[in-house]
Amino acid sequence: MTDPAAVSRWDATSVIMHKRDKKELPDEAIQWFITNYTDGVVADEQAAALCMAVFLNGLTAAELHTWTEAMIDTGDRTDLSSIIKPTVDKHSTGGVGDKVSLILVPLMIACGGAVPQLGGRGLGHTGGTIDKLQSHPGFDPFLSPEQLIEQCNTVGGVIAAAGARIAPADAKLYQLRDTTGTVASIPLIASSIMSKKIAGGTQNLVLDVKVGAGAFMTNVNDATVLAETMVQIGKDAGVNTSALLTQMDVPLGRMVGNTLEVDESIEVMEGGGPQDLIDITVALADEICRLAGLDANPAQILASGSTLAIYNEMVRAQGGDPEAPLPRAQHTHDVLSPSSGWLTDMNALTVGIVTESDLDLLDPA
Ligand code: URA
Repeated sequence: MTDPAAVSRWDATSVIMHKRDKKELPDEAIQWFITNYTDGVVADEQAAALCMAVFLNGLTAAELHTWTEAMIDTGDRTDLSSIIKPTVDKHSTGGVGDKVSLILVPLMIACGGAVPQLGGRGLGHTGGTIDKLQSHPGFDPFLSPEQLIEQCNTVGGVIAAAGARIAPADAKLYQLRDTTGTVASIPLIASSIMSKKIAGGTQNLVLDVKVGAGAFMTNVNDATVLAETMVQIGKDAGVNTSALLTQMDVPLGRMVGNTLEVDESIEVMEGGGPQDLIDITVALADEICRLAGLDANPAQILASGSTLAIYNEMVRAQGGDPEAPLPRAQHTHDVLSPSSGWLTDMNALTVGIVTESDLDLLDPA
């Protein structure tokens, strides 16, 4: 744990200039900056400048290790040793129509795992699992570590928001990156995801690294580097980690938007739904079972429709009413094709931007 009060020869400007000039940052500089940004000593504009310097110049493996550990050390590490079953989790790097967690968490419970999932909010043009779940009236994503452990031992799992004590540095940096054009950076994504996952305490973790037009990594080479980087961080921290690269050129499934994605997830948990969504969910579940040594057949369980009861129980345990009508858009507008034919392509990024109403992200060019 770094001592924020410790006297350091570093200040915010010298850390920024060091990275701007492509020099490797010593551990002390990184620890000083992350700790003091979290504590409000370093200003948002200074952190934004450092994020941009990292976006442009990257971090070495040693810098990234220290950066991630420093983010974890701004909060607590959850001790999940009182959870009886093997703990498993999955995290996606973010996509459009990516509602996999809503289905995968109850599916993993059905497969015999305990799932202490810490979900996120939307970032850039990508949706967030917590926003989707809050479509259920009353759903409370804010659980204490004790509540999270209790629910993992009773229902089998949770999808909760990362609490104030889980890598608080990430909560600040996540928002800052969202507004400063510094989201799509391999070291910033890797440290953001892995700091939360390591602090969250899971034993087994599968990463869904999205690649394509609607992902932060638009080509396979970058996505591979991101996947390898995160797997290495996880392994170094003692977490059994692996990654799948999955395509994100077109939206996943047929529905995009918080409530619509809950509708579609329910369809899949009832044993129906679009094949692409089923295939990715089952592939991730197979990998989690392999990692955690769970002897189960996720494809069969999902097709049986038995997962929905577990999902409903989880929503109820977190204060939501799974039977209550979901909120609907007040105004709708059908866009009809002027002629009949086949839809051969769709750009996930454009769909994501329109759905998030974040039209500023659309490139005027
Ligand atoms: N998900 C995260 O938690 N962080 C990122 O930076 C991107 C996706």
